[in-house]
Amino acid sequence: MSTHQVLLYYLYVPIDQPEDFAKEHLAFCKSLNLKGRILVAREGINGTLAGTVADTNAYMEAMHQDDRFKDIFFKIDDCDSVPFKKMFVRPRRELVSLKLEDDINPLELTGSYLSPQEFRDALTDENTVVIDARNDYEYDLGHFRGAVRPDIRSFRELPQWIRDNKEAFMDKRVVTYCTGGIRCEKFSGWLVREGFKDVGQLHGGIATYGKDPDVRGDLWDGVMYVFDERISVPVNRVEHVVVGKDWFDGTPCERYINCANPECNRQMLCSEENEHTFLGGCSHDCRIHPRNRYVSEHNLTLTDWQERIEQLGETFTVPAR
Ligand SMILES: [Zn+2]
Repeated sequence: MSTHQVLLYYLYVPIDQPEDFAKEHLAFCKSLNLKGRILVAREGINGTLAGTVADTNAYMEAMHQDDRFKDIFFKIDDCDSVPFKKMFVRPRRELVSLKLEDDINPLELTGSYLSPQEFRDALTDENTVVIDARNDYEYDLGHFRGAVRPDIRSFRELPQWIRDNKEAFMDKRVVTYCTGGIRCEKFSGWLVREGFKDVGQLHGGIATYGKDPDVRGDLWDGVMYVFDERISVPVNRVEHVVVGKDWFDGTPCERYINCANPECNRQMLCSEENEHTFLGGCSHDCRIHPRNRYVSEHNLTLTDWQERIEQLGETFTVPAR
């Protein structure tokens, strides 16, 4: 038995005065000793939070007693500690940002919902294109086998990317997926409005698919990126295929780090060994950046630093501190 739980949920539902709601809700979450991050907008609520089993259960029960939130489906992960440091409840203009000139209300327009079984069938159907609606670094750590990886750095670039590549998908059935389902609610609605005829979305996202007792995460390769200190969680309980590649040498890898240059912070997959070899820096410039975190955390002297850089065949220039 695990001692703690991580909850992931969203609901598109009208919320009046999101600012006031956020303040009250933060106090409520703190009263239950919960940690995590919740976004509130006029269009709904989206959260991930963690606490003891008793506290998280009390939270779910209280939410379900609120008429607005009685339909929330909570995805629950067991864990032994809380993977968040603080509790935030933030009012936002939108729950997910597609930066559309004309916003989509998923309560009015969205793609059809696919169960995990229907989604698995879609993955092996040659007349269906499955599009990953997440960011590139999420895809690189793990994704559904054969899914399209849009070449985008953030979700809001997705509509333009689709427009640029429309010919490839227009005559096919298009199915999308994301972590918990919230991004696809809007994105699939947008696809329908763009004129795609047959649009589906994985209901409940990858998180639900991985827990489904029938599909058990089948046809997922790698692990799933999550937005907390766990960084990734397993999905496929049938088999585990590593698809992540080390930033430096391309070998199979599922270990994420941020580039040690605080002005870069690039998320990259990297073995412990290569993190040491390359001083945590994704590029030469990041390795010799004056505020390189690896250098300060390992108390490297200027001479150590220079030696390590020169061992890489790179030229060390004294950083201006
Ligand atoms: Zn970097």
